[in-house]
Amino acid sequence: MSAILEKAVETTPQEAPKTIDGFHLLIDALKLNDIDTIFGLPGIPITDLTRMAQAEGIRVISFRHEQHAGNAAAAAGYLTQKPGICLTVSAPGFLNGLTALANATTNCFPMILISGSSEREIVDLQQGDYEEMDQLAIAKPLCKAAFRVLHAEDIGVGIARAIRSALSGRPGGVYLDLPAKLFAQTMEAAAGRKSLIRVVDPAPRQIPAPDAVKRALDLLKGAKKPLILLGKGAAYAQADAEIRSLVEKTGIPYLPMSMAKGLLPDNHGQSASAARSYVLAEADVVMLVGARLNWLLSHGKGKTWGGGSSKTSGGQQFIQIDISPTEADSNVPIAAPLVGDIGSCVSALLAGMGDGWAKAPTDWTTGVYERRDKNVAKMAETLTKNPSPMNFHSALNVIRNAIKARPDAIVVNEGANTLDFARSIVDMYEPRKRLDVGTWGIMGIGMGFAVAAAVTTGKPVIAIEGDSAFGFSGMECETICRYNLPVCVIVFNNNGVYKGTDVNAGGGKDVAPTVFVKDARYEMLMQAFGGVGVRATTPAELAKALDEAVASGRPTLINAIIDETAGTESGRITSLNPSAAKKK
Ligand code: ADP
Repeated sequence: MSAILEKAVETTPQEAPKTIDGFHLLIDALKLNDIDTIFGLPGIPITDLTRMAQAEGIRVISFRHEQHAGNAAAAAGYLTQKPGICLTVSAPGFLNGLTALANATTNCFPMILISGSSEREIVDLQQGDYEEMDQLAIAKPLCKAAFRVLHAEDIGVGIARAIRSALSGRPGGVYLDLPAKLFAQTMEAAAGRKSLIRVVDPAPRQIPAPDAVKRALDLLKGAKKPLILLGKGAAYAQADAEIRSLVEKTGIPYLPMSMAKGLLPDNHGQSASAARSYVLAEADVVMLVGARLNWLLSHGKGKTWGGGSSKTSGGQQFIQIDISPTEADSNVPIAAPLVGDIGSCVSALLAGMGDGWAKAPTDWTTGVYERRDKNVAKMAETLTKNPSPMNFHSALNVIRNAIKARPDAIVVNEGANTLDFARSIVDMYEPRKRLDVGTWGIMGIGMGFAVAAAVTTGKPVIAIEGDSAFGFSGMECETICRYNLPVCVIVFNNNGVYKGTDVNAGGGKDVAPTVFVKDARYEMLMQAFGGVGVRATTPAELAKALDEAVASGRPTLINAIIDETAGTESGRITSLNPSAAKKK
């Protein structure tokens, strides 16, 4: 029996309050399910809920904008395998949180957006209530599931359904609509506590079918140039030891997607990261482990994969391990779908391989590693250069060294060039230490993810931010300072989106749309709230400031001055710009 239920049963009728209200039922339902943190932004009608939750021992992290609270909840869900909770006010607050909910769903991160809402009777007749909006209807198409609770006695069921929906199968975002009136409703205390549900086995293991395991193994056995591709689903699954065994037992080169970096250390002997183009184009059998063949993998087709045109396949055969039974064949045929949770699927493969499983052919692996080593040596040469002003490489080399020294630190990364270069330059050594723009490649996740990483792990967080990307969530520096979180934000300041040299083609008085105020003093933003701010113009200054930030754990912002001519339009996704696409 849970502690809370035990307490309810043990308390004598004289001591126990006779009634319990909606506020406390909700708090108790969350606590009963081990939810210890709420990310949110107080306001009508949930201000008292945040106060009461805090009084009841739940950590309430209060933000300056709901989108960042939502992003924090999503990242917390990803890191902990417990749904991250985001709490918002009605209509505008709800809408601000919705971007994060949709993003969480797209990325398969478990989160629950709980929003207060106006009175149903008035909303449904569209009579113009305070912040009137049919939030449930709006949320539904943007998340995995959406529920509304109208009666206090259903709060337990509402929370249980939200938790199950967020965590089971493919994880995702859930919306829970709580009309203002619900909070004040009361019911008899013992009955109320009995109505709460502790969710048993919210993410049940899903064991793959033996014939599917055999099909995958048969395909793998015949492969001459096999490749393993690890995605963030593999990182989320926390089956780190099994995945490592699979890679090492088979001797197959592997490629991590960006958030799967560190699942095995980036300096692992079988990493093919620095030979990415080669292995994708050349492999004959590719095993996808918690990775989707979406735009980030060129949909499994085209030149990337050795195909002739953008629509033709390179002839690879795919094994796809995924918890979602409908993921296979979404872009190209999947010869061997393996449906189940990654831990169970990989264990089943390992068991099926037995002891005598032959390692990947050495003529393939030797060729891969030779190419990789050549590229790694070339990059090492570039990284030793010390141009003035700094460029992306010389600044990122400092962070690369810092992570080598503190592999437990968590990297948050967003931007265009800042993202692309950091992904390939900054090696990761431990699982789930890299959080970035994810499946949508969105900007604005920075400070929300950084707060979540610091709050859920207590480890140092290094947020590598393009100056444009930072602008979306920069005000949360106040949040970072308020909770005194060990976050060091490094703004790659090259005076603009992509770079700072664009000109107004019409010759008018306004600067070009991609240009920012030159030499902006971003470091003063952290100083404004009592944190540390440093302007760094050389790798030595950057290294000193970063070392101090990591050692002290004090909120820090380093304004890293980057050559404003460095960087390319749209980073590595130039091809998605309509004008570039037309030129093709
Ligand atoms: P990446 O962007 O790194 O390639 P994606 O987000 O595209 O990764 O893919 C993650 C995949 O992992 C999704 O298809 C999701 O269904 C799957 N997934 C998430 N959790 C699990 C799990 N525990 N077991 C199996 N598959 C999972």
